[in-house]
Amino acid sequence: MTYVLPTEEQQLAVDSFRKFLESEIRPFARQYTDRFIPKEAMLEITPALAEFGLPGADIQEEFGGLGLPLVTRAMLLEELMTVSVDIGLFMMINCGIARFLANLAPAHLRERYLPGVMAGRVFGAFGISEPDVGSNVIDIKTKGVRDGDHWVINGEKTWITGGHYSDFFICTTRTSEKGLSHFLIDREEHGYETRNIEKIALNSQSTAQIFVTDARVPHSNMCGEEGVGLKNTVKEFEMARPHVGLLSIGLMRASLEETIAYAKERKQFGKVIASHQLIAAKIAEMATLLDASKLMCYRALSMIDMGIRCDMQSSMAKWFATESAVKVCRDAVQIHGGNGLTKEFNVERLAREAIVIPIPDGTTEIQKLIIARALTGVSAFV
Ligand SMILES: Cc1cc2nc3c(=O)[nH]c(=O)nc-3n(C[C@H](O)[C@H](O)[C@H](O)COP(=O)(O)OP(=O)(O)OC[C@H]3O[C@@H](n4cnc5c(N)ncnc54)[C@H](O)[C@@H]3O)c2cc1C
Repeated sequence: MTYVLPTEEQQLAVDSFRKFLESEIRPFARQYTDRFIPKEAMLEITPALAEFGLPGADIQEEFGGLGLPLVTRAMLLEELMTVSVDIGLFMMINCGIARFLANLAPAHLRERYLPGVMAGRVFGAFGISEPDVGSNVIDIKTKGVRDGDHWVINGEKTWITGGHYSDFFICTTRTSEKGLSHFLIDREEHGYETRNIEKIALNSQSTAQIFVTDARVPHSNMCGEEGVGLKNTVKEFEMARPHVGLLSIGLMRASLEETIAYAKERKQFGKVIASHQLIAAKIAEMATLLDASKLMCYRALSMIDMGIRCDMQSSMAKWFATESAVKVCRDAVQIHGGNGLTKEFNVERLAREAIVIPIPDGTTEIQKLIIARALTGVSAFV
């Protein structure tokens, strides 16, 4: 498996991407700390990110991608997430969108949207969650009613990453009493409205409500077969969860880096705090949690690359990495003492960001129920 150490080629790709991130993306992200990046500004950086393979790295060459393993793309995403979890999250969604279009969209939609997404000029989003539908995806209320060659779709989505930036979104829609289906809804062509949601953190990118009112969407905009939307959503989660874990890895890496530098600089009781054994132990624990999280996330991603189903490993990686980051980023604040609570130091923001990540793509509680179901064969969901 390739998740333990990068190959020489992967390392070269990561190194050159890191240089680009330091010179271009870090200063850009700093400019927008806790401030919303307008779409025009986002469009200034996304074509450059696309040159490095985000989001097209893992897309089949026949569709214009680079045909690289998912793990290689994940290594690039991890670097981006370490510099900016906001931009990393937004790009992660568009990576998922590119793969969804490549694997599930009919040819006419793939040909129309995929090149723009891979070039970083067109943005998509995934609309699953609704005001009354979070953990219970099966209860989706957004409804499509067939009308000849079209479907008339009505509903409200919420917490949608990149919603405000989106040119189109994949709408998980109820198309029969028991069946869900996916539609590609275009903002201009079929119409939908978005409204941004302010949160404790991650406000530089968009988390949005989406309102769909009497959108007439052609039947040919259905992605995947009619009625199998739940199965396809579960498959999407399998891939998304280790990626959400990567967001937390980015946060842990950034926190640890700041903490090591601070602990080697700050003196108390006549010596640097890194030499106090309780602080040293905390740093060792932070690094170990980060490393274990990385192994778990890359194991799941490697399994997907190898075509091995890994819902359980993906859930393990998601809850472990995201909850580890909450602890690691909190410890980073603790090691910074009072300074850690101020805007002068990044650890305050990293700790706020870490709290957000255990929630999307299935909460920690839901991941544990999935893992236990896989082990016992007994489902807590029925
Ligand atoms: C930053 C961010 C980005 C997001 N991006 C997207 C996106 O792009 N697209 C999208 O569709 N959605 C997105 N979401 C929504 C996200 O997937 C949901 O918030 C998540 O699934 C939880 O749903 P909920 O918030 O409604 O919580 P609820 O489902 O209401 O859960 C509330 C609490 O109850 C617990 N709980 C629920 N059911 C059970 C159970 N059976 N057993 C034990 N505990 C339970 C939960 O763990 C949680 O602690 C995003 C959310 C966030 C915060």
